[in-house]
Amino acid sequence: MPNYADILKEIEEEIQPLFSQGKVADYIPALSTVNAEDFAMSIQLLYGKSYHIGNTQHKFSIQSISKVFTFTLALKAYGKELYKRVNHEPSGNPFNSLVQLEYENGIPRNPFINAGAIVTTDALTSIYKENTFHTILEFIHTLTNDSSIQYDETIFCSEYQHGYRNMALINMIKSYKNIHNEIDDVMQTYFKQCSVMMNTQQLAQSMLFLANHGTNPKANEALITPSQAKRINALMLTCGHYDASGDFAYKVGLPGKSGVGGGIVAVVPQKMAICVYSPKLNSQGNSLIGTKALELFTTKTNLSIF
Ligand code: GLN
Repeated sequence: MPNYADILKEIEEEIQPLFSQGKVADYIPALSTVNAEDFAMSIQLLYGKSYHIGNTQHKFSIQSISKVFTFTLALKAYGKELYKRVNHEPSGNPFNSLVQLEYENGIPRNPFINAGAIVTTDALTSIYKENTFHTILEFIHTLTNDSSIQYDETIFCSEYQHGYRNMALINMIKSYKNIHNEIDDVMQTYFKQCSVMMNTQQLAQSMLFLANHGTNPKANEALITPSQAKRINALMLTCGHYDASGDFAYKVGLPGKSGVGGGIVAVVPQKMAICVYSPKLNSQGNSLIGTKALELFTTKTNLSIF
């Protein structure tokens, strides 16, 4: 087995020159107040050990990583029916893009761009009504075995007040009758799920079921079927980094999902889940150092799926 503790140390050293690059997200004003120099990385092996480096206790806003949780819940509830409302192809466009939606009659390309995640949250709202956010949070509590995880009210309010594009997206989708609930109810849940605060340790833990054919290894409980886990991993690989998904597959070669809060999660099937945090982003809205750290990790360990 590779010496993961040493590998993490090497990665931390090798990323140092990159700290001058990238830019913290500021279109959600509350996100711009983070410490731009923060770095943390956690590896959680399927059974047993975990390895950590940096500020791994620091909780940050999970943002679009939450789309993995909501897509999992929706796929579990609706199965293939879900694909009538949200497709499973890469978009090749930025995460908050509007253009494709009009050409494609309000059916978002995939559940990991904002449009698709909003439809997914709407689909959950049809089932769980006013308990939708509570259901999402409980799912995160189950995955992490940690009921202290909550959302951040300040980040939630900040995004709610500045969510112009997301409001445009949901209005456009509703005009095609692909939103079935009240716009405000869906957006409140969407913004709350994005403002959930977790650290790299908790996020790595939360993704282990995807490395384990859909079964939570701690409780040995099947959360979704192996085939559904395969589909979620496939979408993380092809769509998890928006218009940089190809680049992420090329450099890292793992299913992964990023968030504009600076986190990235990645799955090594049958082996482990990883989370890295560094809030400065590249031009596609993915953590710049996080991507590099994962590239170094798969290069040093040969753990890419390719
Ligand atoms: N809450 C963010 C938004 O909707 C999520 C985007 C992201 O993390 N890429 O804009």
